[in-house]
Amino acid sequence: MLNSFDPIVSLAKRRGFIFQSSEIYGGLSSCYDYGSLGVELKNNVKKMWWKAMVQDRDDVVGLDAAILMHPKVWEASGHVDGFTDPLVDCKGCKKRWRADHLLEAKGIKPDFRPGDWKKHDVVCPDCGGALTDIRKFNLMFKTEMGVIEDATSTIYLRPETCQGIYVNFLNVLQATRKKLPFGIAQIGKAFRNEITPGHFIFRTREFEQMEQQYFINPKDKKKCFEDWMEARKKWYLDLGIKKENLRFREHEKHELAHYAARAFDIEYNYPGMGFKELAGVHDRGDWDLSRHSKFSGQDLSYFDQESKEKFIPHIVETSDGADRAALAFFVDAYEEVEARSGDDEAKHEIEVVLRLHKSLAPIKIAVLPLSKKEPLQKLAKEIQTGLRARWMTQYDETGSIGKRYRRQDEIGTPYCVTIDFDSLEDKKVTVRDRDTMKQERVDIGELGEYFKEKLLNC
Ligand code: ATP
Repeated sequence: MLNSFDPIVSLAKRRGFIFQSSEIYGGLSSCYDYGSLGVELKNNVKKMWWKAMVQDRDDVVGLDAAILMHPKVWEASGHVDGFTDPLVDCKGCKKRWRADHLLEAKGIKPDFRPGDWKKHDVVCPDCGGALTDIRKFNLMFKTEMGVIEDATSTIYLRPETCQGIYVNFLNVLQATRKKLPFGIAQIGKAFRNEITPGHFIFRTREFEQMEQQYFINPKDKKKCFEDWMEARKKWYLDLGIKKENLRFREHEKHELAHYAARAFDIEYNYPGMGFKELAGVHDRGDWDLSRHSKFSGQDLSYFDQESKEKFIPHIVETSDGADRAALAFFVDAYEEVEARSGDDEAKHEIEVVLRLHKSLAPIKIAVLPLSKKEPLQKLAKEIQTGLRARWMTQYDETGSIGKRYRRQDEIGTPYCVTIDFDSLEDKKVTVRDRDTMKQERVDIGELGEYFKEKLLNC
């Protein structure tokens, strides 16, 4: 188990998973770019979420709502008044802190009734200086909309994707003819002007959410809530997260967001941080649709044909961060092992194997001809052309075969196909398995079928 993000940050940069945003200008704080392998990993995370949440279910449909929304949405949602973090500044070194985090670090339950903060006597963890009183800091990014300067209006970059779902509840209900219970799922960017971002891509100012809102009759709440908790945890475990690194934590009363009646975090044991929120399952009650009914003047209640009841649906929300999930999968898969990659020249004392679930691995199959020369190169290219129609492949002909295996191991490629001189005669290639290191000779003509079985659902 790693005890810091350092090896992950270094691998991510070296192999092109994740880069600091605007690095040539000195970087933009807490914004990151995904490189060629990172974008594959994150796309695979989103693809597997969409598959589990939409494609595999009859009761959930997808949506892709705009990032920019009517400003009234954020008044109705409570974000204009309530989406704030408690901010304190150090009077000495001027560093900015979140008061709740400082209290938590001292084992004190955060409590922000006036006067309470001072009695805890907290000082700046960096320089020991005195801290200011708490100020509320709204996390929403503001921008202007409109072409004529004096006729612009202030709008917000959405701080969560789910509001796009609530305002489309009626549209989706009518268009899909769904009946309760049913859900709407969406993946998209969200923006928060976090006071203390950090820990690599754990807390950034621009990130991606994968959220699903399940609309229900409140009488079904208990079972529905439990089912979603189970389903979300299972998703992470099925995709390879180690059981001991995942846990549920129920929010205490003082932690609950303004809309939540009950909330559980799914926490992951991040290196150097301990168990921190990876995802959440929230009982949002009828807060969202009631508020949007009130602020928009539209009736967002639901009429149940069978029971003849009319009511505002309650919502059980599942909320996951694509970046935090990608980070958890990345960290969990990272393993340093003793040298294992063939010839001496290629061996290092410690080698990295990224044991990503096959469906998340950026590259599924590497194609490695033993020699750069014809006719091996031609045959290898033909093999790659056949495979790439279905899977992400990578062609690599430079360096010893041991080095090439190691390069693929550290980016998590589950299979390497090696084309050697015998391949020209027996029309077979060697397939190497990342985890077992087992090597098998497979007929070139059967490679497609072979991988179809090995890479099911990938
Ligand atoms: P935290 O307590 O860590 O700030 P939160 O409770 O504010 O998170 P939610 O509002 O429940 O988070 O957002 C749902 C999910 O979105 C989180 O579980 C997380 O995966 C992701 N998320 C939220 N804020 C960030 C961020 N600043 N950077 C990356 N991912 C985030």
